[in-house]
Amino acid sequence: MAESQFARALSGEKGSKVGVINCGSSSIKYEVFDRKEGVKLATGLVERIGSAEGRMRQSRLQPDGTFAEQVFTRPFANHYEAFRFMVDMNRENRFIKDDAELFCVGHRVVHGGELFRQPTVIDDEVMAAIRSLIPLAPLHNPSNLLGIEAARLRFSGIPQVAVFDTAFHHTLSPAAYRYAVPRELYEQHQVRRYGFHGTSHAHVVREAARYLGQPLEKLTMITLHLGSGASVAAIQEGKSIDTSMGMTPLEGLVMGTRSGDLDPAIPFYLIRELELSPEKVESLLNKDSGLKGICGVNDMREIQQRAGQGDESAVLAFDMFCYRVKKYIGAYYAVLGRLDAIVFTGGIGENSGPVRSAVCTGLRHLGIAVDERKNGTVAGKAAEIQEEGAPVRVLVVRTNEELEIALQAEAVIEKRR
Ligand code: ADP
Repeated sequence: MAESQFARALSGEKGSKVGVINCGSSSIKYEVFDRKEGVKLATGLVERIGSAEGRMRQSRLQPDGTFAEQVFTRPFANHYEAFRFMVDMNRENRFIKDDAELFCVGHRVVHGGELFRQPTVIDDEVMAAIRSLIPLAPLHNPSNLLGIEAARLRFSGIPQVAVFDTAFHHTLSPAAYRYAVPRELYEQHQVRRYGFHGTSHAHVVREAARYLGQPLEKLTMITLHLGSGASVAAIQEGKSIDTSMGMTPLEGLVMGTRSGDLDPAIPFYLIRELELSPEKVESLLNKDSGLKGICGVNDMREIQQRAGQGDESAVLAFDMFCYRVKKYIGAYYAVLGRLDAIVFTGGIGENSGPVRSAVCTGLRHLGIAVDERKNGTVAGKAAEIQEEGAPVRVLVVRTNEELEIALQAEAVIEKRR
């Protein structure tokens, strides 16, 4: 199997691959997928763009199905240079010998606002529209645009598709997405809940339906994306009807370094009493809060380890994280009215048995009960860990945002043909 994929990868067949770009302020992450089988052929990360210590790591599929990593250290003056280098290296290792091998390139774009409800083929007008959303995502959309610009320049003949983190949540109703603030703030200034991690929620919802062998349109679920960033979504008949992240990714769960929900008056208190600037407060809530703020580290593995050794602040961080998730499960269960499954995903959701166990403990009255033996031996793309006969299935599903972007991008281009 792997060998035939490898041979296909090097065959140079026209339109046989899909590229995925996730561009940050000083990094570009990419993947190349085989279009026919959705198999990852190459992946890489260019880091520290703009610094003297630039680095690119790339892993390429080998004939035996494993990946071999290469590391290059050299400065990249800007994203264009980094992008060019990335493409040249793929050409060198023969994964993309000719641009025509690319069917399309999918780009992760964080904020699609109310303008984008679907993955969208990029042209100048779409670029301008994404640019117009920068005030809503000042940290992300500008870098996402840089990646698109570099790709359009380098692959001018290849269709480029923007896949938005917000799009999956466009099905929220006003009762779920509006904030109780003066209505002009929504009507004139776009203040509302948008939700994020949509690509991940969309992916695991579909994978869960496949695993359960039921049509997506019939399934009611709560999806828990628990990683450095974390969010919950309430899924009714396959569609997102509520989600914990808001106008920005700061709202909701306790995250690695983000506070999640808090009394909106706290920032004013900090500004008034501690004389912090608004910028300082924003940075404090985004970068120094969450797990890190509570116990000094943002890595759940380390927190579990420290908690196991009796470190009280680590125990509290762990408890607060799980307590907040549990609260959202209760809230979304109430909103949904019935529940077929809850789905754990993301670095923590997929790998932390202790978190899954703590989140589900005490939810038996809701039909949610975890079998600890199954919880301790989760493997593969999807698994179920509920107790025998428990009414709600508890699933652990591996997310794959890059593959989801590739699939969505490809589907748009295919539909257009
Ligand atoms: P990102 O949002 O950056 O993609 P990930 O989804 O990779 O983040 O999740 C990162 C988080 O997953 C970290 O807190 C990390 O500690 C946690 N994690 C990864 N493996 C485990 C594990 N085996 N047990 C507990 N937590 C884990």
